Amino acid sequence: DVMIEKDIGFSELNLPSVLVEALKSCGFEKPSPVQVQAIPIGVSGVDMVAQAKSGTGKTVVFGSIAIERVLRHCTQPTASTLSKKQLLDMDDDSYAEAVSGVPRRTLVLMLAPTREIAIQIASVVGEIAKHAGKRLHVEAFVGGNASTTQEDEIKLGGAQVVVGTPGRIRSLIEARRLRTDDIELFIMDEADKLLDAAFSKDFNWIFTSLPKKRQIAAFSATFPTALLNMVERYMSNPVHVQMCKGEEGVSLEGIKQYYQIIKDTNNTTNNTNNTSSTSIPISTIEYHTFRAKVNSLLILLEQVSFYQAVVFCNNRVRAEELCKLLCKEGWPTRYIAGSMEQIERMAVMKELQAFKLRILVSTDLISRGIDIERVNLVVNMEVPVAMDFETYFHRIGRTGRFGSYGVSITYVSGDREMQFISQLQSRFNSKIEERQENDEIPEH
Ligand code: ADP
Ligand code: MG
Repeated sequence: DVMIEKDIGFSELNLPSVLVEALKSCGFEKPSPVQVQAIPIGVSGVDMVAQAKSGTGKTVVFGSIAIERVLRHCTQPTASTLSKKQLLDMDDDSYAEAVSGVPRRTLVLMLAPTREIAIQIASVVGEIAKHAGKRLHVEAFVGGNASTTQEDEIKLGGAQVVVGTPGRIRSLIEARRLRTDDIELFIMDEADKLLDAAFSKDFNWIFTSLPKKRQIAAFSATFPTALLNMVERYMSNPVHVQMCKGEEGVSLEGIKQYYQIIKDTNNTTNNTNNTSSTSIPISTIEYHTFRAKVNSLLILLEQVSFYQAVVFCNNRVRAEELCKLLCKEGWPTRYIAGSMEQIERMAVMKELQAFKLRILVSTDLISRGIDIERVNLVVNMEVPVAMDFETYFHRIGRTGRFGSYGVSITYVSGDREMQFISQLQSRFNSKIEERQENDEIPEH
C-alpha cells in the first residue's frame, strides 16, 4: 500500500497514547506520509503550511493536532481544591471546568470553504475526539442553517473545537456568541480557496479577531504561489510540509484519466461561449453539444462497472437537467449546487454516503475536499468554466482517495476544450488517454 509508511506508527508522532488509541478505533492504524511529516510539526506549536495531494489524509493531520491541543488543557478536576468563595464567584463554564477538568472554551477554530467540507471535518474530527474519551465537543457551524441563538449557545457552550464556513463564523463572532479569546490554534482547510476574493473580507475580519498569540496551520492540495505569499503574510516563520512539488503535485497517480471527444453536431456555432446574452448561465459548451455528451454518458454508465459516480457540470441548470435525465433512465441520482437550500444539500450528501445514490451530479460546489469512499468514477461533462487545472484536479480527486483506484472521464468538444486537455498533458506530464465511445475501461 503506497499510502502507508510501513515502519512508523501514530505513537511516534508526539501524540498522547489516548489519542493514538482513538485513531486506531477510528480505523487509522498507520499514518500516511503527510501524517508522518506534518503531525509532529503541528504538535510542536509552530505555524505551518502543508501541501499534499487529494485523498492523502490531511483531515487526520489537523484533527490530531487539534485534539492533542485540547487534551493538553484537560486536567484533573480542581473543584475539590478550591474554596467555597472561589466556587461561588465562578461563572457556569469555569465551574463546569473545575468540576470536570475539561475545558469549556473554544481552543481551536477551523475554517473550510464549503458547508459540506465543514460538516465532513466536524464528523471525522468529532469521531476521533469521541474515542479520546474526555467528552470533547467538535461542532460545525455553517451558513444557511436555521438555528436559533439558543441552539447556537448550547452548541458553543461545550465546544472546544469549532468548524465552520467564513461567513457563518464571522457572524457568530460578531454576535459575541463565539468567543475568540481562548483560541490557540487556527486551522485553514483548502487554504488557497479560503484566500479567494469571495472569502477575503470575512476571512480577514475573522483573522483580526483572533488573539495575537496563536498557531496557524494551513492545508491544501494546491497552493498557487500568489496565495502562498498571502498565507505567509499571516504567519510567522511557517514551516512548510510539501509532499508534492508545485503544480505537478496535483496530478493523481491512482486515477486512470481519460478524455473522450464528442463531435460538435452543430457546425454553425463555434465554441466561443458568447452566444448567450440572456440570464442563462454561461458555460464552456453549447447546449446541443451538452446533450450529445449526455447520450454518451448514458452509454458509458451501462458499460463500466462502478460503485458510485460524481458527474460535474459547469452550472446548476445543466446539473439539474442531467439529474432528471439520469433518474428517468433508472439511475438513483441527485444533484447538488450551492444555490440549494442547506437542508436539501445535507440530505443529498447523507443519501450519497448511505449509498442510496449511485450518481451525484454536482457543480463545483463539491469539487474540493469531499471524501466519499465508494466514488470510483468521476465524469466531467465539460472542462471547468475557468479552464483552470486546479479545479480539474480537485474534481477528479473525488475518486482515488487514499491510494484507491478510480477512473475519470472528461468529455471534450471543440477547440477550446481540446486545448485544455493538451495543456494538461504537456504541462503536468499527466497521462490522459483518449477513449472512443465503446472502448472498454479495464478494471483494476
Ligand atoms: P485529503 O483531505 O488529504 O484530501 P482526507 O483527509 O479526506 O484527504 O482523507 C482521505 C481518506 O483517507 C479518508 O477516507 C480517510 O478516512 C482516509 N485515511 C486518512 N488517513 C488514514 C490512515 N492513516 N489510514 C487509513 N485511512 C486513512
Ligand atoms: Mg481535505
